[in-house]
Parts: sequence; C-alpha cells; structure tokens
Amino acid sequence: MTYQADLKLFIDGSWRAGENRDAMPVINPATGGTIAEVPLASTGDLDEALGAADRAWPLWRATDVEKRAAILHKTADLLRERAQEIGALLTQEQGKPIAESVGEVIGSAQMFDFFAEEAKRAYGRVLVRPTGQRSIVIPQPVGPTATFTPWNFPIYLLAKKVAAALAAGCSVISKPPEETPGSTGAMGRALADAGIPNGVFQLVHGVPDTVSRHLIGSRVIRKVSFTGSIPVGKHLMKLAADGMKRITMELGGHAPVLIFDDCDLEKTLDAVVPQKFRNAGQVCVSPTRFYVQEGIYDAFQRGFAERTRALKVGNGLEADTRMGPLANERRIPAIAGLVEDAKAKGAKVLAGGERGEGGYFFQPTVLADVPLDAEAMNNEPFGPLALMRSFATVDEAIEQANRLPYGLAAFVFTENGRRANLLGDAIESGMVGINTFAISVADAPFGGIKDSGFGSEGGVEGLQSYQVTKAIHQA
Ligand code: NAD
Repeated sequence: MTYQADLKLFIDGSWRAGENRDAMPVINPATGGTIAEVPLASTGDLDEALGAADRAWPLWRATDVEKRAAILHKTADLLRERAQEIGALLTQEQGKPIAESVGEVIGSAQMFDFFAEEAKRAYGRVLVRPTGQRSIVIPQPVGPTATFTPWNFPIYLLAKKVAAALAAGCSVISKPPEETPGSTGAMGRALADAGIPNGVFQLVHGVPDTVSRHLIGSRVIRKVSFTGSIPVGKHLMKLAADGMKRITMELGGHAPVLIFDDCDLEKTLDAVVPQKFRNAGQVCVSPTRFYVQEGIYDAFQRGFAERTRALKVGNGLEADTRMGPLANERRIPAIAGLVEDAKAKGAKVLAGGERGEGGYFFQPTVLADVPLDAEAMNNEPFGPLALMRSFATVDEAIEQANRLPYGLAAFVFTENGRRANLLGDAIESGMVGINTFAISVADAPFGGIKDSGFGSEGGVEGLQSYQVTKAIHQA
C-alpha cells in the first residue's frame, strides 16, 4: 500500500506547501524508510494564521449554535466515511495496527458529535435578587486557542481539543505532530469539507519550539492546550504565564494496576495483556505497574507471560498484527535502557526484552519482581513494558499506587464492591478504572492531577475549559 497523503499547511482557508518552506521527512516506523515530506510553517505563515484566527473569532462566536453544531456533526460524518483511508495513513506514519487506527478515527468522530451537542448546553445561571433586579452568570468563549498535540494518538488527541474549542466558539490554531501529518491533515480536510469558515480552524506544522514560542507569545492567543511530556508541559506553562494565558495540560502517567486475589483471573488477564501492548504501550494511561496480591502472583505472571509471547508483532497494515513498531527510533534506546537497568537491579525477564528485527520494533516485554529503585518503576516507560510486583494488604497496594508524582490513571481488579469503592476514593489520580480500561470517553472528564497535568478534556468540563465566565449585575 502506498502512502497517499497530500501534506500541506492550512492557513486562512487555503492549503499551502512548497514556496521555499523548510520540510521534514515523514518516516514509516515499520520500515524506517522515508515516505513523504511535511512542509514547515515560516514565521510569515504563523503571523498570517494569527491574523486570521483573530479576525475569524468574533464571527464564529456570533454564529448560531445550531450552525456550529451542524459543521461539527458533518465533520464527524466525514471522518466515519473516510475512516479506512485515514486509518491506513495513520498506520503507515505511526505504526499502530490498522484496527487501532480505524478505531481512533471513529473515536475522533464521536468526539465531534459529542461536542456538537454539548455546544447547545453551554448554560449560565440566574442568581436570586430583589424583584426587578437581575444578576446572571454567562459562559463565553475564551478566544483564539493554540493546541499542541503528540504522535501517539494524533487524530484523537487533536479532535478532543479542537471539537471542544470550536463548540465553545473559539478559533483554533493547531500544531499537530510533524511525525504523523497525513492523518491530522485528513482531519483538517474533513473540517474544511464540512464548511468550517476561513481562519476558524488552522493547521501549522513546524519546529515545535519555534511554533509554540511564536504562538504563545502572541497577544492574539488566549488559551494554550497541550498534550505530551511533563518537561515540555512545564516549559509551555512558563511561556503561557508570561501572557497570563489559560492552559490545559494533559501530561504523562505511570498507571498502577492493583490486582486482588478475588478477581476473575482469566478474564482479567485477557483484558490486561492486549491493553498493555495497545499502541505498543505508547499511551499516557497505559497500565504499567502491576501490583498483584500474593496468592495469585505466580499464576498471574505465568498467564501474562504466555499471552504476551503469543502476540503477533509486525507491520500494522497486516490484519493479524497485534502490536506494531514504536513510533520513533529514539524510543528504542529509551526502552532498552529501562530494561537493562531493571535487570541489573534484579528484575526477572518473563518475556521479550530485546529490540526486534527491522523498523523500530521492540519486543513486548514483561519484567517481574522489579525493584522500586529501578528507573522504569519511577519514570514513565511509554513503551511495551509491563512491570510486576506482589503486595499483601489493601493499605500496601494504596501506598504503592500513590508513591509517584504522577496522577493520571489507575486501575483496580476486584470483585469486592466495598473494596472497589474504597480504592476509587483513595487512589490519587484523575481517572480510576475498576474492572475496566474504558476511561477515555467523550462524555466524561479526562485529565491528570499532581505532575500529570492541569484541567480536563471530554465531558462538560472539556467544553468549560474553552470558556470564561462573566457575571452581569443589573440594579
Ligand atoms: P518530547 O518531550 O520531545 O515531545 C512530546 C511532544 O511534545 C511531542 O509531540 C513534541 O512534538 C511536542 N513538543 C516538544 N517540544 C515542544 C515545544 N517546545 N513546543 C510544543 N510542542 C513540543 O518527547 P517524545 O520523545 O516525543 O515522547 C516521549 C515522551 O513524551 C514520553 O516518554 C511521554 O512521557 C511523553 N508523551 C506523552 C503523551 C501523552 O499522551 N501524554 C504523548 C506523547 C508523548
């Protein structure tokens, strides 16, 4: 299959490329080969985009909500119609199995549908006042927004931000990841074909630090929304602070999974193994630290390792592939280093542990009895690495779950309802999945606490993050 992406910037309603702009190669991680070049925005492009976003915002916020919703629903319809084609682009530039890519496009369409309807429920409040007087609180769009999104779920993470911001009435300039421009460009085309007015949604690729400094430094931008690593998030927060800009930061995680001896072991193993290796573990809510109660620890290790060894690793375009390559070559030494460090400190290798053949492959890897001072137990691996330890009591499990500065997602497997409630309350994280991994859905807030970030996406909270409130008092 050939990679047929028309890679361009989308500025003020026109698609642009060439004309002496710098370019960056796009690489297929399954082969390591270059498949295209993506044009990078010049300073002039960024200034044009800022000007267009500034002009478009007052018109878009004044557009009838039904019309805004219709454009978002139409975008969702086009994404669903084009899901196979966009999914194939995503697999070729990112590596994930084709079924995961198509699923990501469908999930992005759901995000547009959800926010199309949520736009109509942007309610305010009327306060109690003496007869004839009024005090009201109304939500208003925050204004032109800059979004920065990563390469692990390039369409879905972009859709989460863009659908909510457009629903709220903001104009948006997005810098998607340069590694995966075909799939995010296809989302831009769906918005354009659905009738998004010029300047309301714009796409600019570029050198990340140059683009983010330029956009965040502009007086036009009122809100910054980023998904990515904690160090980059902190850097962008500092840039945003200089202009007192509102922020949403969806950063890394290191999800604990607490497995109690009263769980349905076979069902739990069938759920956790595919989830661990989904998108080759390059998922901010990936289940990573498996704490298993003593009585079932041996059986859990055996079942996990057997299922892992049976996974078919390969090119994501092949229908029977269950795990593709890592998205970037730089992740291979990062994962290999974590494995070597854990082994040197006494961890047992139950499966994998080595780089794969060709492309950017790394074997699905399971390590048991991993010491707490191993680097992987403390820094987000962001790769196909499962880490296991045993525990005895509920208190010990909670202490382990909460021991890191991360606080994004956590998972619990138990059939004891009372214990489930207790753990749901006690674990320090933005999301807790109890006997489920389905925690990233359009109608619920998704976001971290502690070092994992600030603010939420999805749900009513997702819309509110692109709004400011105003109180109007009339005597
Ligand atoms: P990185 O820190 O170099 O980049 C992370 C993302 O931020 C990328 O999409 C990158 O293009 C972008 N970025 C980097 N510098 C930027 C800047 N100055 N302005 C704007 N955007 C900028 O890391 P990486 O090697 O691409 O990814 C590895 C780490 O990133 C992982 O270990 C993981 O912790 C984190 N990550 C998290 C998520 C998530 O969903 N939360 C997604 C991707 C990566």
